[in-house]
Amino acid sequence: MSNTISHTSHKINPYGLDSIDLIRFEPEHLFLRPKVVKALAAFRKRGKELGFDLRVESAYRSFDRQVSIWNRKAKRELPLLDAKGHLISKDIKNPEELVKTLLLWSALPGASRHHFGTEIDIVDASAIPHGYAVKLTPEESHKMFKPFHDWITEEAESFGFLRVFIPGRGSIQPEPWHLSYIEEARLFQELFDLKELEAIYMDSDIAGKSVLLENLEALAKDYIYPYFL
Ligand SMILES: [Zn+2]
Repeated sequence: MSNTISHTSHKINPYGLDSIDLIRFEPEHLFLRPKVVKALAAFRKRGKELGFDLRVESAYRSFDRQVSIWNRKAKRELPLLDAKGHLISKDIKNPEELVKTLLLWSALPGASRHHFGTEIDIVDASAIPHGYAVKLTPEESHKMFKPFHDWITEEAESFGFLRVFIPGRGSIQPEPWHLSYIEEARLFQELFDLKELEAIYMDSDIAGKSVLLENLEALAKDYIYPYFL
């Protein structure tokens, strides 16, 4: 049975497979669900009053885009990093080891919360030194963005946004910069069905496909379900 529901005239799904009623927001030219854009505008305005320049680094991401990132890291066309964030130069022949390594810094395609159109990665543009390229690391959050993160801790929830990737929850590294507009995200969490994801993988040319298909339930327990709030 298909686990998509009819929403206005479109079908929505949690796997990044179609447009799911997204709208573009500025000045970033990124896409989110309409209610999230509205909440973001209010949150951004409040930040501005306090001297923060809230900038969204990442919002909606499609399944194809996430697979492309995943596969290019597997092929080393993009840098593959170890747990400390250092470049891995050796070849990883064992497909299980490769999947585990990819999962350190990449979400499972089809199970990234960025597929929902309700998630944002944010920084304070006013705190970025001239010429510095943001990397979204814990170090940035503890140093240049610390006042910004203290404000997020204090006020994000009253605008509907929650941190999801926090220490002690699941196997994904903490990502204090990632916020979920939780009321809308729950619609997608409820629609998520591992059997559907399995069928999507069967049809795709994702790197490590057989490892993913064989271990999907265990992976979901560590990388997906702990974050369904
Ligand atoms: Zn994120």
